[in-house]
Amino acid sequence: MKIFPSLFNQFVNLLIPPRCVKCSSILENKEGLCTSCWPLISFIAKPYCACCGRPFDFDIEESALCGSCSYDSPHYKSARSVFIYTAESRDLILKFKHTDSIHSAPLFATWMTRALDDLENPLCIPVPLHWSRLFMRTYNQAALLAHEIAKVKGWAYYPTLLKRQRRTPSQGYLSKKERIQNVRRAFNVPQTKKELLQGKKILLVDDVFTTGATLNACSKALLKAGAYEVHAVTLGRVVTP
Ligand SMILES: [Zn+2]
Ligand SMILES: [Zn+2]
Repeated sequence: MKIFPSLFNQFVNLLIPPRCVKCSSILENKEGLCTSCWPLISFIAKPYCACCGRPFDFDIEESALCGSCSYDSPHYKSARSVFIYTAESRDLILKFKHTDSIHSAPLFATWMTRALDDLENPLCIPVPLHWSRLFMRTYNQAALLAHEIAKVKGWAYYPTLLKRQRRTPSQGYLSKKERIQNVRRAFNVPQTKKELLQGKKILLVDDVFTTGATLNACSKALLKAGAYEVHAVTLGRVVTP
């Protein structure tokens, strides 16, 4: 009986109308952004680097790699993101991270699944927070996204396969080199969990791709523990000129 949920949804929409995730105005569509905010967000589309997903400004074949990936190939097989991290898209992510806009998770997860290439049945794993930071924040936004993606696609969700074994200083003001140092050996897969990921494809989920250092360190730990290959997806992506 599909009629009941759709009537129920219409009823809920009347009571609590869907709002724009950026400016909170009441929405007519279901895409999450109002018509004024939509053009402010730079959604990423092809062409982009086949590995790290960095957008190219010119037309090039789909298998092309950016300079950075061809010089030093990352541990993940692919990384994809929904939009470029700009002053305009930043507040979508900050709201999601620090306040009560947890209800945006299903919408963001749907956007993230659209950014992915064909992937068959991966295990969805969030980039973990150290327990002390999780305690301060009460929830891990990457885990919320990974959980929603798993729900949308019917994939398995494993929030505790990957552990952050030491608390790393915030990456905010670090250079690329410092970020790599900062997350080196920060992640591991507990011995008891290794069996679960033998030969498996992994979808690693985070909110922002900044330099890729965190995703790379996580991928390295997952591959070392026996995963077959790692793909990553984030909501925002920093693109430096
Ligand atoms: Zn809006
Ligand atoms: Zn690249």
